[in-house]
Amino acid sequence: MAVLALAFAAILMLWAAVLLAFAGPLSARWREPVLRHPVLIIESDDWGAGPLVQADALSRLSALLQRVRDRSGRPAVMTLGVVLEVPDGARVAATGGSAYHALPLADARFDAIRAAMQAGIDAGVFAPQLHGQCHYWPPAVMEAAKSDASVRDWLTASDPAATEDLPSPLQTRWADASSLPSRALAPEVIQQAVVAEAASYQAVFGSAPQVAVATTFVWNEAVETAWAQAGVETIITPGRRATCRTAAGQPACEDATMLTGECSLAGQTYLVRDVYFEPALGHTPQHLVERLQTRTRQGRASLIETHRFNFLRAQDASLATLEAGLHAALTACPDLHFMTPLELAHVMNKLDPDWIEFRLRPRWAAWSARLSEIPRFRRVARLTGLALPLAWLGRAA
Ligand SMILES: [Zn+2]
Repeated sequence: MAVLALAFAAILMLWAAVLLAFAGPLSARWREPVLRHPVLIIESDDWGAGPLVQADALSRLSALLQRVRDRSGRPAVMTLGVVLEVPDGARVAATGGSAYHALPLADARFDAIRAAMQAGIDAGVFAPQLHGQCHYWPPAVMEAAKSDASVRDWLTASDPAATEDLPSPLQTRWADASSLPSRALAPEVIQQAVVAEAASYQAVFGSAPQVAVATTFVWNEAVETAWAQAGVETIITPGRRATCRTAAGQPACEDATMLTGECSLAGQTYLVRDVYFEPALGHTPQHLVERLQTRTRQGRASLIETHRFNFLRAQDASLATLEAGLHAALTACPDLHFMTPLELAHVMNKLDPDWIEFRLRPRWAAWSARLSEIPRFRRVARLTGLALPLAWLGRAA
């Protein structure tokens, strides 16, 4: 009997040691707000200055989103991560490729694109957010063009450029990836660039940007500080902050991880976008529903990443898959709500009792559903048997 008691005590001590070892990520997931309702936000990047075919794609998306409504009657919301400039290829070519010239979103050539964006904003289905003045760092692209003919051709093309065609490292704005590994930009250079892009954004949309999402999810603290001064109060993240490109061109140098509702040093609210739904890459409506259900069990909103390229290339098929996915989501989760990222950040910051769960049992169930994502925790919990009581408590809640 004494042996059994000793063994039991040893197991309890082992479990306590495991919980202590993972106390940081476990408690962070307990503090992370738990939503009372399923929430779905479609996040779509790269719109703005660029191929003129976007105007038609945006109009069709706006009509589609207005056809899909949650139980409150609100139409589906899609954020537009906006890019405010592409190269003016003819003018760059006229300099023999020696000087950069910009073609801004405010240019008359983009009238139809801006009108399509504004029509969707007025209809309550588009929510613009700052993606960047350009989907690249101009001096880096100019430098790369000296040794890369495809980049030179891209810079000097007569039609407005698609930034998706640039080599991936050069699509990063907040690092100099003209050669790899990338080099950091000086904070004062970042500061000046953000002031300029916030002014461009305001000129097009009539108000300062409140939400920002870095191109290729590479940014740093200097960018966040500058964004805060420009009025950005919410930052869309993938849950970690990469600050460089490696020698192989991959985003890396992660210096922070974040959960939804956590605060940046500059005071912004972080949101996490981690559901990838790119119909042109084969993602199905069922894929969307499964991830929505997982996020809902975790008491989290589903921020769905779906880039512009889906709707420029295989437009009919991508639109049909998106619409089917949204209807499937409403069928699977009848209590689903559509909202903007800014609204989500506000209900979290206010701890709005209409949206945020305070009862212990649902909070416990959501917390339990979040634990398997903690690196190594799931394996350690299984090996030590701690997974059993956690699973039981999760089900009991
Ligand atoms: Zn992008």
